Parts: sequence; structure tokens; C-alpha cells
Amino acid sequence: MHLKKEQGWRSNEGKKQLLTLKPYVPGKSIEEVKKETGLTKIVNLASNENPFGCSEKVSEALSAFSKYAHYPDSRARQLREKVANHLGVKQNQLLFSSGLDEMIQIISRCLLSEETNVVMASLTFPQYRHHAIIENVEIREVPLKEGRHDLEGMQKAVDERTSIVWICNPNNPTGTYVNEKELRRFLEQIPKDTLVILDEAYYEYVTVTDFPESISLIREYKNSLVLRTFSKAYGLASFRIGYAIGNEVLMEKLDVCRLPFNTSSFAQIAAQTALTDNTFVKRSSLVNQKGLQQYYSFCDEYNVQYYPSQGNFIYIKPDKNLEEVFQYLFHRGYIVHPTKGGIRTTISSVEDNNGIISLLTEMLIED
Ligand SMILES: *Cc1c(COP(=O)(O)O)cnc(C)c1O
Repeated sequence: MHLKKEQGWRSNEGKKQLLTLKPYVPGKSIEEVKKETGLTKIVNLASNENPFGCSEKVSEALSAFSKYAHYPDSRARQLREKVANHLGVKQNQLLFSSGLDEMIQIISRCLLSEETNVVMASLTFPQYRHHAIIENVEIREVPLKEGRHDLEGMQKAVDERTSIVWICNPNNPTGTYVNEKELRRFLEQIPKDTLVILDEAYYEYVTVTDFPESISLIREYKNSLVLRTFSKAYGLASFRIGYAIGNEVLMEKLDVCRLPFNTSSFAQIAAQTALTDNTFVKRSSLVNQKGLQQYYSFCDEYNVQYYPSQGNFIYIKPDKNLEEVFQYLFHRGYIVHPTKGGIRTTISSVEDNNGIISLLTEMLIED
């Protein structure tokens, strides 16, 4: 080691661009929060997990699995067949990953080289930016307009060097969406060698009728790609499994950057089982709609700004110091996600929603 240092060894300094990045900061564990607050019940509404768990069928299917010593099926063949049937796409139009977090990494690693740029909204899901920095590409962030993607602005930011446009639909953290008509107009104007990625992590919660039929769109526009996950409405976040749907040639190219065994056997079994229980997903979505209504009524009554949401979360802008709001809720057992300009909270059971709403009401009345 010494010898190498004297010879000018600096290889452990890493890539320069990493100096601006920090490792992901995990939220405090429920146990830690209990200790810190002295409370016995803590509700975590910071990660948009399904508050109702997952399909009951999942644990049954998992308990029948015992091939612990074997590597998982690299191509996730059973799951692949089921997802392909579920969506009406060809099997080789699919790519599976250890959650969409890994998919964003695979895509970035595969498609971004230093002379390219990426276009995305600001505020949006932070991982698009994180991986663009690691790949050392120029990032063109286009501010949201009233919480919504500014597709016109994004189109202007695209040039011949743009390799990816990220569209988070519905957008995390604002919950707003891009509709079919807007998206088509956008796709018409984008160069054919720029990939437009539609991150539909919350697809199962969407209720509006003008939401893009993205599976048809990827047939028409070969330069578009759709991302979906089992982490949110399916309630399988702990397993880490999600997928991309796109044209076959692109999928094969992306597959090169995937680790051979990136999804575990457990994750594949959990996902294919969850897919058969449509009732669970439907019920989650219905309860979510009711929960959103609770928040809308509260916000309308107390004049709190918010964006109507197509996800299982809502972004609100109480006229207060956001850190104070966070702390107030935290010390009363509710963990929410503070973000730029607002607070994002997961929609939960009627009781949990009421819990937060009455605390917020208390806070607003105090003035
Ligand atoms: C939660 C989330 C993801 C990541 O989901 P995983 O599949 O759990 O990695 C990706 N995109 C958006 C917009 C999300 O909210």
C-alpha cells in the first residue's frame, strides 16, 4: 500500500463527479423513532408503501419455496410469461430489475455517455438525477408548472444530444399527471433517437380516464419505455422487483447492463402471485381514493394548497415552516416526507389520515 502511495497512487479517490453526491439517507427505523419520541405507535407515511400490506396469497406461495441453494431464474421466465399475458405484450419486451431503483441505474449505465444530456422535471423522483451525475452527463432540469411537468419547456430543452427524457407519471412528489393528448403531442416532437421514459410506479392508483395508454404508445413510438413496479400498489417493496416494457431491440440492449441474478427467487414468486390477486390491488386503489378525498376536504376547508393526486400520496403546502410541521407530526407519531416547498404524505387508512388531518388542523388553528 505504502509503496503505491509513494508512486502517486490515487485510485481510491473515485470519480470526480461523486464528490457532489451523498449515499442514500434512510429514514429512521420505527424502533429508533419509538425510543426518541417515547411513543408506542408510529405510522410511517414517508415512503408510499401500501398501508394494507400485500395480497394474502403471497406468503402462502413463498412458504412452498425451498430451493434456497439455487440461483434464481435469471430470465424470471414464469413471472415474465404472467406479466406479458397481463399486459398483452411479447415476453421479450420485458426487463425485470431489483425495483425500479435498479432499473434507473441499468438504463443510465447503458445509455448515458459523457457527450449526452438528460432532460427531467424539477421536482421529480431524485434517482434520475443521481445516476445522471454518476454517469457524468449534463442534466437539464425543467421546473414544474403548477406542480405539473412542463412538456413544452422540456421539449425545448431537448436537442440532438439528449439521450433520455424522464417523465414521472404520476409525478412523485406532486402526484400530478401528464395526459394522453399532451404526451402524444410531446412524443411527436421528440427526435426518434431520444428515449422518453414513462415512470409509472403508481399506475395502479390512477383513476383519471385521460391517462396515457402507455402500452399502446410504446408500440407506436419505439423510442418510449414504460416502468412499473411491485413496490407500491402490490405492496411488495421489501422484495425489490419492478420491470420495464419497451421495444425488443432496446430491451436486449438494456439487458446487457443487468446483473445475471438481479431479482431473487422470492421476489419473482411474490410478484407472480401478487399479479393474480387483482382484488387486492383494486381494493387498495379504492381505499386510496377515499383517503385522498379526506385530504381534499381538509385542504379546501382550511385553505391549504395541494395538488390533486393520481398516486397513493398527496403533496400539500401548509402556510407554515415545513420543518416545524414535520417535527410536530413526528413527535405525535406520524412520519411524513418533507420535500422542496411542501410535504408529501402517503395516503393510509381512514384512521391514520384522520390522525394527520386533526394534527394539521390543530397546528393551523393555533395561529
Ligand atoms: C417508489 C418509486 C420508484 C422506485 O420503486 P422501487 O421499484 O421500489 O425501486 C421509482 N419511481 C418512482 C416515481 C417511485 O415513486
